[in-house]
Amino acid sequence: MRLGMDALRRADPELTALLDAEVRQQETTLAMVASASIADPSVLAAGGAALSNVTAEGYPGARYHPGAEQFDHVERLAVERAKELFGARYANVQPHSCSSANLAVLAALVPPGGTLLGLDLDSGGHLTHGSPASVTGRHYRAVHYGLDHVGRIDYAQVAQLAQEHRPKVLIAGASAYPRTLDFARFRAIADSVGAYLIADISHIAGLVATGEHPSPIDLAHITTTSTYKQLGGPRGGLILSGQEHRTLGPDGRTPLSRLIQRAVFPQSQGTPSPATIAAKARAFTLAAAPEFKQTTRLIVDNAKALASELSELGFRILTGGTDNHMVLVDIKNRGMTGVVAERALEECGILANRNRIPGDDKPPLVTSGLRLGTNILAQRGMGPEQMRECARLLHAALAITTALGDTEYRMEPGAAAEVREAVRTLCARYPLPFDGRDSNHDVPMGAGL
Ligand SMILES: *Cc1c(COP(=O)(O)O)cnc(C)c1O
Repeated sequence: MRLGMDALRRADPELTALLDAEVRQQETTLAMVASASIADPSVLAAGGAALSNVTAEGYPGARYHPGAEQFDHVERLAVERAKELFGARYANVQPHSCSSANLAVLAALVPPGGTLLGLDLDSGGHLTHGSPASVTGRHYRAVHYGLDHVGRIDYAQVAQLAQEHRPKVLIAGASAYPRTLDFARFRAIADSVGAYLIADISHIAGLVATGEHPSPIDLAHITTTSTYKQLGGPRGGLILSGQEHRTLGPDGRTPLSRLIQRAVFPQSQGTPSPATIAAKARAFTLAAAPEFKQTTRLIVDNAKALASELSELGFRILTGGTDNHMVLVDIKNRGMTGVVAERALEECGILANRNRIPGDDKPPLVTSGLRLGTNILAQRGMGPEQMRECARLLHAALAITTALGDTEYRMEPGAAAEVREAVRTLCARYPLPFDGRDSNHDVPMGAGL
């Protein structure tokens, strides 16, 4: 590691400067991007290992290339740790992302042109759940359920659409939904029409792993997730199955676990990324530790505190609160669009992304909502008390912002600099877990770690 770091520093100051600047940026900004978390330095180190040089298609013990002995051990270790962490009976650690995982699972369970039922994108669903903007919306007949009048999933509508369209697959999962998902209810609906249930826990995998959100592992036929969002792992995906892993697939003879193995390789991916799989193995162990359980509890407590504080400051919080790590804010009654809020906040060192909200009349690049998350705030050790400060800083940044249209705005520079400084001060009190330094080597860990 150190060797590579030194070489990079000597050979490529231009790149090193950018990587180091990123570390400083992360140290001094309040990252409230709901899909992000901070990977432990040991996870980053595993992801940068020389194991990356191994090229080996296939699975442990059945590779299409020589030289995979260590990689076989590493992949088996990652699979065992994933199963242990989630109480699963089957795990595939090769997907390069949750999007690839979803594509593989859908390809295994839905024939081309077959029907799938998922949450509508504007109601908080994901692109890969059949959006017209994704291949899943073009290769399958996608039907979408939405939310009820209080912004919760409309299970009656899910049941009714299932009866009407007889989908092959029902997808339970969301990218922008602050409430608990009732996987048992989804499963009952899937069973009523003979559909497979896919749970996509990309956003809430950390809460599921520690029991802060009910687990879908034994309720869904297949569960998919990203490893970098709440698990603090490397960029990547993961497919899991619990007691249904031996249930037969659509052909009536192949168990789901075998179908999924093939669906990932060779059907939708080529070579796996060995060092990324090593980093996943490392992250799964960290996520199984008692400290991570505490962090996820803090994530949920913080989100509740943030929602209630923002609500007191006059923001309209969708569904009136949250059960998970996410707070969705309707920003249009503040006289601005999501993109204006996002940019104004970024000028003050607060990162939160614009998000479409139910009934949104603005295009996806503009939007009327803001999505906040507390993963990184909790990782920094901030608690509900500090959420009050975060809410006030966010409020202060938007209070000095005047929208001049959907994307243009004006900010009083002196006032913005003051908020930026207050953000910096708060961040300095709650340094990132790695404190910007690799404790073993005492070097900034922008590059090569
Ligand atoms: C982010 C997300 C994905 C895609 O994950 P990537 O790993 O970024 O491809 C899939 N499903 C849901 C629900 C998500 O939020």
